Amino acid sequence: MAVTIGIDVGGTKIAAGVVDDAGKVIARRQIATAAMHPTAVVAGIVKVAQELNAAAPGTTGIGIGAAGLIDGANGVVLSAPNIAWENVPLRQMVADRIDLPVVIDNDANVAAWGEALYGAGKGYGDQIMLTVGTGIGGGIIIGGQIYRGAHGVGAELGHMIVDASGPSECPCGNHGCLEAMASGNSIGRRARERASEPGAAAVLERAGRDGAAITGELVGEAAKAGDVWARAIVTETGRWLGVGIANVLNIIDPSAVIIAGGAAAGTGELLLGPARDAAAELIIGHAWRKLPPVLPAALGYDAGLVGAAALARAIS
Ligand SMILES: [Zn+2]
Repeated sequence: MAVTIGIDVGGTKIAAGVVDDAGKVIARRQIATAAMHPTAVVAGIVKVAQELNAAAPGTTGIGIGAAGLIDGANGVVLSAPNIAWENVPLRQMVADRIDLPVVIDNDANVAAWGEALYGAGKGYGDQIMLTVGTGIGGGIIIGGQIYRGAHGVGAELGHMIVDASGPSECPCGNHGCLEAMASGNSIGRRARERASEPGAAAVLERAGRDGAAITGELVGEAAKAGDVWARAIVTETGRWLGVGIANVLNIIDPSAVIIAGGAAAGTGELLLGPARDAAAELIIGHAWRKLPPVLPAALGYDAGLVGAAALARAIS
């Protein structure tokens, strides 16, 4: 049985595993990266890869997904703001320390690949994935492959601009990106802006009566518990997500849309329902056209490492 190592490098942790060719994780390692120096993150990646390689003899390759702009063809992380990496030749740095082929890609790309092969997107062919967490990542699968664009940095679906003249600033510096309008952070922002409204009482209570302490997660919990005010905020956010989905459907016309990420998992249908409704109203040809399935992801936090491991299988 062929096994490969998949490594998902995020701003807070490195999650890694040995994965078999059915997408099953058969060994795991995880280390925290918060406040780590950029070179220490590379050392951490090498450490987990060496440990997993020793734990699972017969490993044939290593796949790494990292949050940021990645030039996979040259194996270089162009920019990864969460880890403070810039122009880091990650593939070579890892390959120098371990005698295995190494492939690197964007974290949302590998997560989309994992879901397409083994998760909610299995069997759907062309598909897109949006990871709705603190920000919004995107992955596009076309023709049985990850679509990366001419320079490897395409599929940044979170930075499609849906409200260019709006007030909401995105971490990227633009205004009105989908990430600024429909991420978990945007749920928190909306709630904080309206914390003086009478309906906010229950959410304020959850935040220790401090409006500035309201987070998207708290709003999601209150919405799930049935709070009407919190639900309205999640609904509004879901409709913005639907605007983004409609744009992608108009451009790509995929068979399915997979929605992953912590904020989506935490709000479930309260977010996805309004997203579907808005997308169905906005897609071109909406009078006759059926909305393709918009589905919650199935692999949770494993999607990235499973997809990265699958990429490694293709090169080894
Ligand atoms: Zn942006």
